[in-house]
Amino acid sequence: MRGVDHDVVVIGGGQAGLAVAYYLRRAGLDFVVLDAEERPGGAWRHTWDSLRLFSPAGYSSLPGWPMPPSQTKGFPTRDEVIDYLTRYERRYEFPIERPCEVEAVERDGQRLRLRLKDQRGLTARAVVSATGTWGAPYFPDYADRELFGGIHLHSAHYRNPQPFAGKRVLIVGGGNSGAQILAEVSEVAETIWVTLKEPVFLPDDVDGRVLFERASARVRGDFDQAATTTLGDIVMVPPVKEARDRGVLTSVRPFERFTATGVAWRDGTETQIDAVLWCTGFRPATEHLLPLGVVEADGRIEVVDQRAVKEPRLWLAGYGNWTGAASATLIGAGRTARELAPRIRDSLADASLAS
Ligand code: FAD
Repeated sequence: MRGVDHDVVVIGGGQAGLAVAYYLRRAGLDFVVLDAEERPGGAWRHTWDSLRLFSPAGYSSLPGWPMPPSQTKGFPTRDEVIDYLTRYERRYEFPIERPCEVEAVERDGQRLRLRLKDQRGLTARAVVSATGTWGAPYFPDYADRELFGGIHLHSAHYRNPQPFAGKRVLIVGGGNSGAQILAEVSEVAETIWVTLKEPVFLPDDVDGRVLFERASARVRGDFDQAATTTLGDIVMVPPVKEARDRGVLTSVRPFERFTATGVAWRDGTETQIDAVLWCTGFRPATEHLLPLGVVEADGRIEVVDQRAVKEPRLWLAGYGNWTGAASATLIGAGRTARELAPRIRDSLADASLAS
């Protein structure tokens, strides 16, 4: 690593970190990106094999260099996104160190100190945390979970339906992950889909473009345009439509508790199952920020304009609407990074004047 002191350190080299790097360079700041992965691609490296974007490439681009159109029929595949992110960071030759995991961020006089897993340390005048959510899968609290002797797998670690062939599988979670995983697992296994309430299915012609516009409108306070959809509503991608046609896209309300061999429902009946697939979402992966005393119980941090209220040298990018409109999407990552970089530059200039 070039030296150990930087103006800015970006933690996380997924799409959010890359978009921030693009605009930090434009702002003329000295920075380095530290990423825990072995190779480029962030969380996309871990998503399931068949995953495709909700939107066309032109609607899923980072700043500067648009994503090339998909070479397959339909929206870009997961592998195409990883390839795009890989070529994107090479194109701009960002200073990225990988694999490099930040274990802790601490206060150190005028600077923040980052403690790395390999025992090295470095300091920065400002830190941008862009560590995403993949590292913090969320499991809801169901009674007697530890009793169940079958397979538990979170969507964070699900790759394809093969291990579930011929089994009876409970899929928990009413968002897009649940619907898409149900669609392909139900081709090889018997499935039961458990959702808190009836899932919201979007009209067949609504895709990620509409969702992004509505999420942005909601953040702007434009409730006419925001309509009632959210980024969590289910997009009717082809496999999900096909599952609907097969009649498997039906859900039941939650069970009461686990048993050793399955689940017990609220009416007292029990069902035997082999596996539970938890499609229950994620929390912000912010454990490395715990020493700063800024992390709330749900992993979030109180921010104003992407800046931590309790630690003004800390900035957040990419976690969701609370860190910028649709900032957890490819297209939103760029838009929010464009606002973030000048804010950091101005804060560093102010700090220099004050010292
Ligand atoms: P990540 O991609 O998770 O990158 C964070 C990086 O930080 C990782 O490389 C990680 O290793 C690293 N890191 C974490 N902790 C540390 C640490 N302590 N030290 C150093 N490095 C660390 N978005 C769209 O735009 N269109 C879609 O169609 C779409 N579909 C989606 C479908 C699914 C099923 C899911 C789950 C998400 C989808 N998204 C979509 C959302 C979004 O694009 C991703 O969640 C995205 O990966 C988030 O990017 P990120 O850079 O914030 O985080």
